[in-house]
Parts: sequence; structure tokens; C-alpha cells
Amino acid sequence: MNYSTDEISLIQEANKVADLPPKIAEAKHLGALAEIDIPDPNKDVVSADDLQHRQFVTGEFWKKIPAFKNISTEEFLDTKWQNKNTIHKIAKLEEFLKDLTSQEFINDAVKGMDEAPMNLRLSPYILSLINWDDPYIDPLRIQFIPLGASREPDHPKLTLDSLSEQDDSPVPGLVHRYFDKALFLPLDVCPVYCRFCTRSYAIGSDTDTIDKVSFKPVPDNWNKAFAYIASRPEIEDIVISGGDAYMLVPDRIRQIGEVLLDIPHIRRLRFATKGPAVMPMKILTDTAWTDALVDMVDLGRSKSKEVVLHTHFNSANEITQITRDAMDLLFKRGVTVRNQSVLIRGVNDTAEEMIHLVRKLSYMNVQPYYVYQHDMVQGTEEMRTSVAQTEEVERAVRGVTAGFNTPLFVTDAPGGGGKRDVHSYDYYDRVTGISVYRSPSVDENKLYLYFDPISSLPEKGKKLWEDESLHDDLINNAIKASGFANLSPAL
Ligand SMILES: *Cc1c(COP(=O)(O)O)cnc(C)c1O
Ligand code: SF4
Repeated sequence: MNYSTDEISLIQEANKVADLPPKIAEAKHLGALAEIDIPDPNKDVVSADDLQHRQFVTGEFWKKIPAFKNISTEEFLDTKWQNKNTIHKIAKLEEFLKDLTSQEFINDAVKGMDEAPMNLRLSPYILSLINWDDPYIDPLRIQFIPLGASREPDHPKLTLDSLSEQDDSPVPGLVHRYFDKALFLPLDVCPVYCRFCTRSYAIGSDTDTIDKVSFKPVPDNWNKAFAYIASRPEIEDIVISGGDAYMLVPDRIRQIGEVLLDIPHIRRLRFATKGPAVMPMKILTDTAWTDALVDMVDLGRSKSKEVVLHTHFNSANEITQITRDAMDLLFKRGVTVRNQSVLIRGVNDTAEEMIHLVRKLSYMNVQPYYVYQHDMVQGTEEMRTSVAQTEEVERAVRGVTAGFNTPLFVTDAPGGGGKRDVHSYDYYDRVTGISVYRSPSVDENKLYLYFDPISSLPEKGKKLWEDESLHDDLINNAIKASGFANLSPAL
């Protein structure tokens, strides 16, 4: 089944109607309420601003971009068109930006790409949502296009595979760190390349489309991963990440789902994708892909197993009416969607921005699950925040909406400690920016340290890090102060 333009506009119409204040007398089940005297409220009247999260960008917003001014809704919603017009090369980006933004910015982006560890992949959807009048502070630009000028030097304690995933990997493409859950990385390509990607050690090494793969047999390392999972009765939960499930052709989604759901001890699967944030129309118009996902959800349900989609919105600016239609479609077809964000300086590191994002996601039935403290990733120092800042945002968010729509703020502790509630450190020094965590479920004999970006520290802290001969002392002092000097730091 394929959605025609008419059907898509019908979906959009249906959503608009749902947004109108109910006409009480006309609504089928509300008629009796018209007679009731409304009790005096004990709350102030809300303003339109308070409900801003219910506003979704509609219309042909892409037409303000010269290159897209003749693109119809039907074309814009076509995944093939989005893919064909995705920008992979900096030269193409330069050309695209020529009449759109300042030469100063373009030069800066070229310099940034020269130094960046990640590839470039920008869909027309994303390119249309960036404010090119002020790209420096745009939350989408910050995530996907590095600049030369704003770089901060990496923290001296940063290592490339900061989560030490390779140490917990029994088979290439499988990470088994926790007792009952494992991370399966079937591929290394994504529908966008995030500058802050934790897996920049592995992701995006080639940017070829992987459609070709669909006619080949299952790759050897997949079968090895499946065999390992089948051999470990304690594993109940598989995260299928990557790379990104958006890049798996429908047959691959089915193969992974069918094999894993056949393993008796597997109870839960999550397909993880950034796709809805950068190309939501795929869910509406690449029906073969959406059907494959829904079929796996249904297959799981028939076996009393849970199959869900985990996505990755970081900014409300990534969300439009197209996104909402896509999330509505998944909801109607019985797919649970949860979201994992990364807390990024300039993107969502204020209470206001994070609350707005959480409310908007909740409104679309997307459950905010995690907000990650930014990992210590090469070349992204200016995107990280301090632990103190993350805690402050968390304080503001908790309580604004339903508890089950309130994300848990976590630090994925460097050195392989896994996810820790950001508040749960045994010690945190705001001057040196060192936080010390324990992670008994991973290794009860170890301590895991996170380091705030040096630019976020008070002058005194900045000075201390300037002197390399002091670094060991700073760390040892923090470990002593934590009261767990008997444990060994994972460094
Ligand atoms: C995050 C992660 C998981 C899943 O953890 P949840 O807290 O259940 O979301 C599993 N394995 C690895 C290695 C991970 O990093
Ligand atoms: S989509 Fe996810 S895996 Fe891919 S580059 Fe972004 S953060 Fe990394």
C-alpha cells in the first residue's frame, strides 16, 4: 500500500480537526456538558505561549529554500527524492549555501569539515529547517555541521572509544555489557551523521547506500551475533542500533526481527533510529519499510514479546506536522515509540528548551526515555555541558508532566561503566569538573570518572588543568574524596 497525496492530506486534515477546541454541542459524547456550570478555576488562564508545544510547522516550509522552491508536497514527502537530494559532500553543501547564507559561515563550515571525525549527510528536510539567516546558533546546524571557528580543544582525558564498547564485544557488532540486555550493531551507516556520535570510532566509514545488500545472504557477523545471543540464556533484551534501523531495507528488518523473536529467551526488541528526526516522511511514504517494522511489532505481540521503536529527537525544531503525522501513523498501527536525547550546549541545555521538547514529544505519544550527558567525543568539546548544568535542567523538567513522560538524565560513564543517573555520583568537584561514579551492576570494583568541559569551569579549575603535571593529582584527589579509594578507576 502506498499513500497518495490525497491520503496524506486526509491524514493532515484529520489532525487539524483534532486540534480545534471541541465544539461541545457537536461532539458526540460531550453534549451533556454544555448544560453544566463550570466550577471556578483555581488556576490562571493559560496563554498561547504555554501551549506552544502543540503548534506544528505546517505548509510547504521548504519552498523558502531557493533550491526547493518548485518542489511539490508529493515530491518532498517522497523518501527517494529526499535520499537523492541529500548532501554528502562539502562541495555540494558549499554550492547549496551559496545564495543562502554568508560566505564567512560557508568558509567556517569547510574548515570545520576538514577537521571533523564524522561524515556529512543532510536531507532536504533538515536543510529546510535550519535557519540560514543565523546558522551559528541554529540547533540543527550545531548537531550536524561542524565549524572551524567555534572549536574548543578536546579535554585531556578524552579517548576515542570513550564508552569502551570494544572491550565488551564478544563478536564484532555486538556489545554485551549488562546482564540481560545486549546491543546489536548491524550496520555502520545512518540517515544523518551527528557530530557528537559516541560511535564515531565505527560509524559512517562508508557512505554508500546499503540497498545493494538486500540481495546478499545475511552477513557472517550477523549470524555470529545471533548465535552468541542464542547461546546466552540470560539475554532477554536486544537494542538494534548501529548505524541506524532506517538504513536497513525491509527484508533486513524482517530477518533480524524473525530470527531474534524466534530465540525463546528474547522478550524485548528495540529498533533504534534517528530517522524520524531527519526524514519523518519515510514512515508515511516508504510503506514497505513501515510495514516491515509494524509486522515485526505484530509478530512480537503474537509471541507475547515487545518490539518498539526508539528514536532520537534533540530539538523541537526537528519536529513538524510531517513528524506528527508519522508518529500518529505509528501509534495507530500499535507501535510504541520512545525517545533518547543527548543534552547539547546551544541545542537543548536550558530548562525552557528541554521542557518544550519533552512536552512536544509527549503530545505526539513519543515517550521521552533518556537524556544523555554528552559523551566525551573527539572534536565536540563545545557541545558538551557540565554535570551541574545537566542536573539543573533535570530539576526544572521533573514535575512538568507525567512521570512516565519525564526522561531520566544519565551519564554513560566513560571507561565502560554504562548508564548512571547523572545525580548518582559519589563525588563531584565543581572546580575541577570531575565526577566519580560507581556502577556495581557492571563492575563493583571499579570507579568511573566523567570530566566537565574545561570551558565550563571556574577560572581556578581552568588554571589547574593548564598544568599537565597536576592532572594525576586532580584525579587522585577526587577519588579519595569519593570515599572509594579502594576501587580502581577505569581510565
Ligand atoms: C544503552 C545500552 C543498552 C540498553 O540500556 P537501557 O538502559 O535498557 O536502555 C544495552 N547495552 C548497551 C551496551 C548500552 O549502551
Ligand atoms: S544517528 Fe545515532 S549512530 Fe548515527 S551518527 Fe547520529 S548518534 Fe551516531
